[in-house]
Order: sequence, then structure tokens, then C-alpha cells
Amino acid sequence: MKALLDLVFPVDCAGCGARSVLACSSCLTPLLCAPGPAWPRPSPPGLPPPFAVTAYGGSVRGLLLGLKEDGLLALQRPLGWALGQSVRAAVGGAGPVCLVPVPSARAAQRRRGEDVVRRLASVAAGELRRSGVPATVVPALRHSRAVADSAGLDARARARNLSGAFTTRRRAVDRLRVDRVVLVDDLITTGVTLTECAAALAAAGVHAHACATIAATQRRSPHSPRGSAQLPPWALPSQ
Ligand SMILES: [Zn+2]
Repeated sequence: MKALLDLVFPVDCAGCGARSVLACSSCLTPLLCAPGPAWPRPSPPGLPPPFAVTAYGGSVRGLLLGLKEDGLLALQRPLGWALGQSVRAAVGGAGPVCLVPVPSARAAQRRRGEDVVRRLASVAAGELRRSGVPATVVPALRHSRAVADSAGLDARARARNLSGAFTTRRRAVDRLRVDRVVLVDDLITTGVTLTECAAALAAAGVHAHACATIAATQRRSPHSPRGSAQLPPWALPSQ
């Protein structure tokens, strides 16, 4: 319904509030940064090499919140495109690659009516296939118990909250045997969530090659936007 209303009533930019555009070009610019390693400091032992496109904050925060909390579904196109770039960097441009989304907490899924990261992963896989990298999404992980929202928790409390919180779906794991497996999430903060997810995969005999995210909260020196790079037309948020 929200998506339908967005089509009828123009909205303001989710990043800066500019009138009548869902995401203005300057707020989309950080998504064009070259993806790079995004190790948290400190990094939890067992975290597969993490990649991110940009630092979390400013317009990127606005765009992600617009998608996750305000249900502005058109934003999944540029954000998913950026996630695809991050995956490409994580596998060095080689495929086939299998994207395993970090599952959203059940409460968040209920509130949003969907799993946002899974949708972003689907857009990212489409972007990779479009550029010749075979990519599939396999939602092989699920929560094994309820967890609290990690926002606002420090690293130690986060680790306690998420310890052993993920497990695998057995049938889905069978689809992970041949491809490079990359864990995907919208954000990397302390790396605890991704580490727990990698541990759950490892317990099922699956090695996570890397992690790919859109933004890193602790990234100190984000790469610069790439020259005159532009989002492909299909990745622009339509209104
Ligand atoms: Zn803007």
C-alpha cells in the first residue's frame, strides 16, 4: 500500500529531504564509491573478510532507513545495486557466487512485512548476473531463537545477544556446496552478526568466503566516489 501511495504522491529525498524526488543524485553518490575491505576494530575472531561500499551515516543512513523503516521499496534498487558491487569486490569479480542473506530479526520482519536484506540480496544477484557473474540467493540461515534488536548494544552485549542465535536450513545448505558463498547484510558494525552467521554455516560444513555489505559504521576512510561513475538506469529509484 505504501508503495502504491508513493507512486501517487511524490515524496521527498530519503537522504536530504529535497522535494519531490525519492533519492536525489547527490544522496546516491556515496553508493558509487569503490567497495573495499571494512574490518571492524576490533574484529571478532572468525569473521570472513568483510567488504563495504561506503561509510554509514549521512545520506546513506537516510536511504537505508527510508527502505527499512518507511517502506520506500524503490530504494532497494540503488541500495541493492551497491550491495552487488560489494559482492563483486568480495569475490574478485569471479563467480559463480552464492549470496546468503543475514536473516532479519523476526520482530523486524513482522513490522516491515518482509525481509529487507533478502530483497536487497535479490537485487544484488540480478546486478551480478547482468554483468556476467553467475549469482544466486540462498536464504540458508534462520534464527534459532529470539534475539533483541542490536541497535544501542555495545560489542559485548551484542555478542551475548547473538551467540548461537543462527542456524541453517538443511535443504538450503545442500545448494551451497558448489558456489563461493558470500554472506550479505546491509551494514557491518561490530562484525558479531556476520561472525555468528559464518559459524552457523561452518557448523553445517559450509565455508563463507567473505562478507559483503553496503555500509560500515566503523569505516574510517571511505573510498572516494569513482570519477564520473553513475548508477545504471535500472538501479535508479523510480517514483
Ligand atoms: Zn538527497
